[in-house]
Amino acid sequence: MIVIFFGAPGVGKGTQASRVAARSGLPHVSTGDMLRAEVERGTTLGKEAEPIMRSGELVPDDLLVRMIESRLGEPDAASGVILDGFPRTRPQAEALDAMLERTGRGAGIVLVLEVPDDVIRERVLNRAKLEGRLDDTPEAFAERLRVYREKTAPVLDHYRSTGARVEVIDGDAEMDVVTARILAALGLGDNGKEVA
Ligand code: AMP
Repeated sequence: MIVIFFGAPGVGKGTQASRVAARSGLPHVSTGDMLRAEVERGTTLGKEAEPIMRSGELVPDDLLVRMIESRLGEPDAASGVILDGFPRTRPQAEALDAMLERTGRGAGIVLVLEVPDDVIRERVLNRAKLEGRLDDTPEAFAERLRVYREKTAPVLDHYRSTGARVEVIDGDAEMDVVTARILAALGLGDNGKEVA
């Protein structure tokens, strides 16, 4: 099963994706976390990505596509993954479709988390105080929201037009309530096993 967490920055994709990963036993693949690890290690990729991430812009597609292709090729991803933060552009979505088709894995399930803008702005500013992420400043957040609207939201039209399964979840609730809604939409019981 390939689950694609989709939604604006700050809707709770990371938190919910890691919970669904724990319940389902599938690996949580967050491109933001992977990039932050590269920045931390000071790799060439990290050095290229850091200023882009700091500004709230997107890291180039070819880089992300190569990163995901190699991650999906790892043994623990054989039966599926929980994708968080990828795909973020139409070219990334098309590259993912091709990868899944090539490996016979079938299309993913797209989970769209919806939360009003004023709620996500508040969540992100709180996260900034707790985690000190380099892109949680008010300026970078505004840019990430703009980039989401311009480049990432159209990815949903791509999935709708290709007939992928798209589930819209109201994410404006307590964390546990949102998790329960997601597990129900995925047909996963409380113990993470698929419900017949
Ligand atoms: P996230 O933790 O998912 O909010 O990602 C943090 C930052 O990493 C984003 O604002 C982008 O700069 C970069 N990033 C993460 N995933 C992608 C992606 N799929 N395509 C381009 N840039 C990405």
